Amino acid sequence: MGMAHTLTQSAFFRPKNFSKKLKNLYYSGHNTIPGIGLPMCLIGAELVYKHLVDDRSSGPIKGELKTEKELQGHQVMDIVPYLYLIALIVSIMGLGLLDFKHDLALKRYPLPTLLSVGIAVVVFLIWDLVGIYFGIFFRGDAPHLTGITLAPELPLEEVFFLILLSYNALLAYQFFAKRVSK
Ligand SMILES: Cc1cc2nc3c(=O)[nH]c(=O)nc-3n(C[C@H](O)[C@H](O)[C@H](O)COP(=O)(O)OP(=O)(O)OC[C@H]3O[C@@H](n4cnc5c(N)ncnc54)[C@H](O)[C@@H]3O)c2cc1C
Repeated sequence: MGMAHTLTQSAFFRPKNFSKKLKNLYYSGHNTIPGIGLPMCLIGAELVYKHLVDDRSSGPIKGELKTEKELQGHQVMDIVPYLYLIALIVSIMGLGLLDFKHDLALKRYPLPTLLSVGIAVVVFLIWDLVGIYFGIFFRGDAPHLTGITLAPELPLEEVFFLILLSYNALLAYQFFAKRVSK
């Protein structure tokens, strides 16, 4: 019959409908999201199909289904899952340039800067883990994520986002502190 719909086996706690180890391997049926029962299994198959044809709409499939041959020819751009990570890294590098140009933090106080950003990132990660534990935060099915997770529902991108957030806040503080002291 499939895994029961208990709290820890429902929604995002249920096994994902794609393999984390093998690229382009997808699952449908009672053991994956959305769950057991014929309607859920059919919706699960529909979700996999929509993923294969890159259909991001929230409603049911529109138009005629593609044949297996047409599906094989369908190329999903491979760069898409890396876009968010690339954007974050480029933004952090941009902040670094501003920092060095205006001599705000890293060049002037290397160790305190690294410590401040590092501690802030760790604190925010703990906050994230608490939110994930209580089911408040979850990864979702965004196409712009690499799919690499550091813990259940904690994508790799979150670390880079937190670095960006903390470094940005530190630089803003340093910038205004410098202006006030002039
Ligand atoms: C008694 C009973 C009553 C139910 N009543 C309802 C109901 O009224 N309404 C409802 O919505 N749901 C009902 N369900 C649940 C529903 O049947 C299942 O959730 C659903 O069929 C699961 O579909 P599935 O495709 O994931 O798996 P399955 O329907 O189990 O299909 C899996 C298929 O894979 C085959 N298979 C397994 N291993 C291999 C292998 N190694 N190689 C090749 N083939 C393999 C199996 O033979 C099977 O045909 C009921 C289930 C049971 C057991």
